[in-house]
Amino acid sequence: MAGNPPILRRLGYLTPLRHTGRIGRMENPTRFPDRPLLRIAVLGSTGSIGTQTLDVIAAHPDRFHLVALAAARNETLLREQARRFNVSLLCLGETEARGALTGTDGLCELATHPDVDLVVVATTGAAGWEPTLAAIRAGKHVALANKEALVMAGSIIAVEARERGVVLRPVDSEHSAIWQCIQGEGVGDSHLTAPRGVRRLLLTASGGPFRNTPLAEMAAVTPRQALAHPTWTMGAKVTIDSATLMNKGLEVIEAHWLFDVPYEKLEVVVHPQSIVHSMVEFEDGSLKAQLGVPDMRVPIQYALGYPDHLPYGDLPRLDWERAQTLEFQPPDVDRFPCLRLAWEAGRLGGAYPAVLSAADEEAVCAFLAGTVGFTGIPRLVERALAAHQPISQPDFEAIRLVDAETRAHVREWARSPGPLPVG
Ligand code: MG
Repeated sequence: MAGNPPILRRLGYLTPLRHTGRIGRMENPTRFPDRPLLRIAVLGSTGSIGTQTLDVIAAHPDRFHLVALAAARNETLLREQARRFNVSLLCLGETEARGALTGTDGLCELATHPDVDLVVVATTGAAGWEPTLAAIRAGKHVALANKEALVMAGSIIAVEARERGVVLRPVDSEHSAIWQCIQGEGVGDSHLTAPRGVRRLLLTASGGPFRNTPLAEMAAVTPRQALAHPTWTMGAKVTIDSATLMNKGLEVIEAHWLFDVPYEKLEVVVHPQSIVHSMVEFEDGSLKAQLGVPDMRVPIQYALGYPDHLPYGDLPRLDWERAQTLEFQPPDVDRFPCLRLAWEAGRLGGAYPAVLSAADEEAVCAFLAGTVGFTGIPRLVERALAAHQPISQPDFEAIRLVDAETRAHVREWARSPGPLPVG
C-alpha cells in the first residue's frame, strides 16, 4: 500500500493494511488514525459502569487516555485504578483523603479540568447532575450513564447542552440504541434531537426478575431475589429499579430530554431476551432497531468512540448458529406501578421528576436495608409525589431543595412503623 497518495493517507482514508491470510479479508490495525486522543475523566469509576469504562479505555490506548477518576467510597479500588492508569487527578467521597479532592466541588473540578476532553458521568443517583452541568458549561463532551441527572434536572441540563452544542452521549443501552438508530436520519453533530419523520421511540425492557410473578406475591419479594437480574449485571440501585420497572420509567423521562420528544411519542415494550436494545418507528411504519448481546461495554464504547464502532475483541457476539427467539409484550402497569408513576411525574413536569427520583432512591435504600417491603417502594414514591407542591419552572436551587425535602420525608415515612398510607 506504499503507493497510496500521501494526502489520502494523512486524511485517514488509506492506511497500511495487513493481510489476514483469508481471501478478501483485510485487517486494518489502526482503523481510525485521524481521531485525536480523547482525555477522559470517569466519575464513579469503581462502580459497574465505571470499571467497564476503564476496560474500554484500556482496550484502546490509541484513542483514549484516562486522566481523572472519582469514586464515592471504595478508596482501595480507586487507588489501584490510579496506579494502573497512572492518574493523579482523583476525587474521593465526602471525607478528606490524601492527595484527592472531595465532594460535589471535587467532582465539578474534575469535570471542568483543562486536561479533560470528555467526562463519563457514571455516579449513582443524584450525585451526577451538578458535575454534568459543570462539564456542559465548560464545553466538555459528556457521556452520561447517570439517568437521575436528566430526570431531576433535564429541563436545565438538556436545554443548556443543546444551546451550547454539547452532545450528551447516552451510555444507557436503550438510549444508545436509539442514538445509533437515528444516525443518518438527518441528525446533526451538535444535538441529539430526534429527526422529523419519527413516529415513536420504543424503549425495550427486560421485565426484570418478577416479569411473571403474580401480584399477590410481590409484597414478599426479598432484596436478594430483587438483586438477581436475569440478563444484565449492574449496580444495586439500578438492579432494584429494574425489578420495580422504575428504571424503565426513569429511562422514559431520560429519553424525553435526550431526544427532545414528547411523552406521547415514547413507549415501553417488554422484551425478556434483552437482545433488541430499543427501536425507532418512523412515520412510514418502518422500524430501526439496534441488537446485540447485553453487555454494557458496547454502549460505553460507542459513547466514547462516537461516531465510530470500534473493534473490541473480547465482546461477546450474537450466535447465529443457534436459533434465536425474540419476544415482545406490553408492560403490566398494575404489577409495576413505578412505571405508571414515572410517566405521571414526567407528564406533570416541573420538579415532579426530581421528587420521583429522590423518593425512589431513598425507598430503594430502605428496601435494601430491610425497612420496607418491595411493594413499599412505589407506595413511598406515590406518597412523595402526592405531597409535592408543584413548581412550574424550577431552577437549580429549587431542585436541590425539593430533593432534600423529599429524601427527609421518605426516610421518615420508611422509619415509621405500620402500613404506609398512600397520598
Ligand atoms: Mg437501561
